[in-house]
Amino acid sequence: MSFASLGLKEPILRGVRAAGYETPTEIQAHAIPKILAGAELIGLGQTGSGKTAAFGLPMLDKLCGGEPGLRGVIIVPTRELCVQVAENLRVYAQFAGLHVCTAFGGVDMSIQESAFKRGLDVVVACPGRLIDHLERRNISLERVQMVVLDEADRMLDMGFMPQIRRIFVRLPQERQNLLFSATMPKEVEGLVGDFLPNAERVQIGKRSQSAQTISHRFVACPAADKQRALERVLEREGGRVLIFVNKKLGCERLGNALKRAGFPADAIHGDKSAEARYACLQAFSRGKTRFLVATDVAARGIDVDDIELVVNYDFPLALEDYVHRCGRTGRAGKAGRALSLVAPMENRLFAVVKAHLQGREVSSVPQAGRGYGMPKRRGGARGERAGGRSGGRSGGGRSGRGRRHAAAEG
Ligand code: AMP
Repeated sequence: MSFASLGLKEPILRGVRAAGYETPTEIQAHAIPKILAGAELIGLGQTGSGKTAAFGLPMLDKLCGGEPGLRGVIIVPTRELCVQVAENLRVYAQFAGLHVCTAFGGVDMSIQESAFKRGLDVVVACPGRLIDHLERRNISLERVQMVVLDEADRMLDMGFMPQIRRIFVRLPQERQNLLFSATMPKEVEGLVGDFLPNAERVQIGKRSQSAQTISHRFVACPAADKQRALERVLEREGGRVLIFVNKKLGCERLGNALKRAGFPADAIHGDKSAEARYACLQAFSRGKTRFLVATDVAARGIDVDDIELVVNYDFPLALEDYVHRCGRTGRAGKAGRALSLVAPMENRLFAVVKAHLQGREVSSVPQAGRGYGMPKRRGGARGERAGGRSGGRSGGGRSGRGRRHAAAEG
């Protein structure tokens, strides 16, 4: 299967070659012909499955050669994802004469407005900033033909659903809608019912499933010993490592502690300015810093190739976060590794993840602590359901949504 056989125009194929892609990924092979044919689509793809090109290439293809002006809108949950999706699209669009702009908070609106005036065919936007531009009449959605809602489940977690609905009602009736999500919570199903009732579903792999190319290791480690255990791990690592923590303050502290200990490390979280976060990602992608400590929201959409290891320094607060975190390694079919340091108080959520991974091959544990072996498959997804229902002590008695909000920064 080649990109040319999917029916893309020559300027777009040149962009694909410039991106260095030779063969379409599974989701691209499924989705691109359908989108080109005008289908509304819900893409349920694994993280790192190549979904940006799956919606980006057919969107650019359809706009290529048409009357200039804003005709494509891509709505994403975070600034980082906004920048990365736009960067990818600019590579694909460079021979098609199409202009891709970004709209996200934390930077001066006038800078974005000036960019729109220089040429705007596609905008990649975070919901709040898009509404700000609409209200100031900096952009008009009148001629929009295609809308993509990317990472819809994360938009929900971050409380963006009201803004999404406000944007959707301002779009022209005649348009093509695409929605991508790793999971389909009922609020996202509600949005689909209202705005994409006839959409086809393209499902790649099982829902909420971690990429099959990732090996998962778990080490029992008291909270007080985690930093030392992490340092021992990092001393042995020659490649890029992404380290996850649950809180912004903890993120900053761990990043500083690693730097003081002489590691080429940095921290990224929502209290840093957009510019500082961007600089941090650039340094990480160029290899200046090899160890990046991140919160879930800040790390969302990090599109850096060759992350060799994901470390869960704090165990994630929900199964979906575990899946998303591990999805940062093992991208586009490459092998990856995930290591979780599990303190006794994190055992409940560890049990949920363990049930999710049941039946999967999990490598043996390192010497940094006593490890958990993965049980042989017994009762299918029973453990996951039981853990999901319990809500229990480790989540402070809150609902599953509440626990996820605790991890989000907004
Ligand atoms: P995404 O899921 O869109 O974030 O893509 C994950 C990674 O895979 C990114 O680094 C993409 O540049 C890369 N990628 C996407 N499609 C392909 C492809 N067909 N061949 C090789 N790499 C790809």
